[in-house]
Amino acid sequence: MSSESTTIRWEQDDTGVVTLVLDDPNQSANTVNKAFRDSFAAITDRLEAEKDSLRGVILTSAKKTFFAGGDLRDLIRVTPDTAQDLFDGGLAFKRQLRRLETLGKPVVAAINGAALGGGYEIALACHHRIALDAPGSKIGCPEVTLGLLPGGGGVVRTVRMLGITDALLKVLLQGTQYNPRRALENGLVDEVAETREEMLAKARAFIDAHPESAQPWDRPGYRMPGGTPSHPKFAANLPAFPASLRKQTGGAPYPAPRNIMAAAVEGAQVDFDTAQVIEARYFVELASGQTSKNMIQAFFFDLQAVNSGAGRPKDVPARKVTKVAVLGAGMMGAGIAYSCARAGIDVVLKDVTLESALKGKGYSEQLCAKAVSKGRTTQEKADALLARITPTAEVSDLAGCDAVIEAVFEDTSLKHKVFQEVQNVVAPDALLCSNTSTLPITALAEGVERQEDFIGLHFFSPVDKMPLVEIIKGERTGEEALARAFDLVRQINKTPIVVNDSRGFFTSRVIGHFINEGVAMVGEGVEPASVEQAAAQAGYPAKVLSLMDELTLTLPRKIRRETQRAVEEAGGTWTPHPAEAVVDRMVDEFGRTGRSGGAGFYDYDENGRRGPLWPGLREHFTQAGHTIPFRDMQERMLFSEALDTVRLLEEGVLTSVADANIGSILGIGFPGWTGGVLQYINGYEGGLPGFVARARELAERYGERFTPPALLVEKAEKGEVFTDAR
Ligand code: NAD
Repeated sequence: MSSESTTIRWEQDDTGVVTLVLDDPNQSANTVNKAFRDSFAAITDRLEAEKDSLRGVILTSAKKTFFAGGDLRDLIRVTPDTAQDLFDGGLAFKRQLRRLETLGKPVVAAINGAALGGGYEIALACHHRIALDAPGSKIGCPEVTLGLLPGGGGVVRTVRMLGITDALLKVLLQGTQYNPRRALENGLVDEVAETREEMLAKARAFIDAHPESAQPWDRPGYRMPGGTPSHPKFAANLPAFPASLRKQTGGAPYPAPRNIMAAAVEGAQVDFDTAQVIEARYFVELASGQTSKNMIQAFFFDLQAVNSGAGRPKDVPARKVTKVAVLGAGMMGAGIAYSCARAGIDVVLKDVTLESALKGKGYSEQLCAKAVSKGRTTQEKADALLARITPTAEVSDLAGCDAVIEAVFEDTSLKHKVFQEVQNVVAPDALLCSNTSTLPITALAEGVERQEDFIGLHFFSPVDKMPLVEIIKGERTGEEALARAFDLVRQINKTPIVVNDSRGFFTSRVIGHFINEGVAMVGEGVEPASVEQAAAQAGYPAKVLSLMDELTLTLPRKIRRETQRAVEEAGGTWTPHPAEAVVDRMVDEFGRTGRSGGAGFYDYDENGRRGPLWPGLREHFTQAGHTIPFRDMQERMLFSEALDTVRLLEEGVLTSVADANIGSILGIGFPGWTGGVLQYINGYEGGLPGFVARARELAERYGERFTPPALLVEKAEKGEVFTDAR
């Protein structure tokens, strides 16, 4: 081990090849921290000093991952005041990488595991990249998904390596994480190896064959692939970029794609070192802004907390499900069966008739056929997945199942009936789950003998694509059932949030506010197309009126009537929402019930394809010339969801800020740039006091429902934010 290095080991053989082994002794993964920077500087000095006696360098890691990149805990704390330090530090690091790539000796990255972000940027500064085809290994620049750009030369080098169009579309703008084979196909690495030995042998072979390596862009006569921005061919492609940017962001305030594009295009027109400075400026602007902080908080810290079990009882041992009974093979049951089988769990899929159960399995057959045709899986794996699903109409086939997931029609007495049928057939301690989207879990549990084993497992549609599952604890749900439900959700590779029982739980209740606000604006006379545009530009993945049509207009009516009855029976007063009158008119007066009924806020053709907004909306609702500020329209939607989330915290339905943030983004399409429904409040201009003031303004203009709840006001007064940190 070298005396000057603590995190990078220098291992030299007698042929003059040095292997630099990244191996931070204080962390499970290598990151760009101070120790690494110091070691890297010392190592570069030594390489330069001893280069005459060296033939080449191999860079690899002793950890499971190659290199994990920058430390996000540092980045999330950067403010405009400390931005200059970040800029200076970033440039210093880039200079080190530049010294490595201009050493005059071949440098090979032997990528033995994940190389994402900063890890891949280090590999980019090498002359040759060989990736080990290890399971779970991912390669790419996912910075954009955290509101950032690759600030370690990643923009400058991918543009020079792949050309500006491929660099933007394949690497930078989507942040795609490729497995080693796909990374090879897309030009991110040069070779793939099956074993570590093969990887190192290939690295040596490259060194033998290229004694005086230099990067393509440092060789005389270098031309950028695809042409520079001044090249006519490039100029012809340029107009497509703003369109692709709009497609990616929907016009929502995501600054990262814009900065990435600017750094790429401006950097392509200047020399390498100037391009690095341009990249650094755009990086620092993103890192010191609010959006990257929101996105790092949600997509890194909150997601990690949620998935690693912050909401799971600690002292219950982990347990895996081996055989699950899925009751009801309709839309949800079919998707749940597929997700479980894909995770290696045997599934008995039961419906009232074998024909319906077979139809439910048919959904998995379709998904498997598509995955095979697209090369995402092999025929053998698809066959094995399908063999795990047994369709049936016989209750006796459920014997031995250690979990039940019920997904029959949304009807309490039917759900009670199916649990009565199966509870003594399945394993005596089987976990009992209902996928109800609205019915209170405590009341459903009254239909089973073992109420402590009964729990809500709320999946989202389409189940195979949607990553979230909302776990709902009933009043009598035991800690063991909660832990087992949590483990089951993780077993099928989904993200579990945990809430307490309440009508509509967290997700269904909160998304209702978004929809109601959009519909209410139509009722006030606002042009419906503007309402849709406001939702899109706020960053919602689905426009509000089209979402209402998808859910059907009759469903919220039914839920509203049930909720109203429950509120009044409990002695409360029901405050009608202005959206209700619009929905009632749409259904009762115009017979427009949504997409499944062939007509809603939009027109639909005979195949259910969405056409234009219904012209009758303008005739019956729109008041010519009536406008409200666009910002108010967007914030009415965002605030209505955020404010009700605070009420859910007050009511104890939600108990974790991370669950609220992640559940809102992954489950109900709350815009990702906000960092989730509570981080939106934390990050609002002026912090919590700013949010409270704005909520009061909206309450004055649009109604009492925007009045900030006591918990929010109290936190704002105390100078606190919403956090799980204790
Ligand atoms: P669906 O109508 O598509 O399917 C229900 C299935 O249950 C049908 O195939 C029906 O034949 C079957 N069924 C009825 N009685 C049965 C019995 N006694 N035994 C076995 N099967 C029986 O409904 P869906 O959309 O899949 O919804 C199912 C459940 O999931 C509901 O509780 C719903 O609220 C909930 N949910 C739906 C969504 C959604 O987006 N559709 C989302 C989350 C939760």
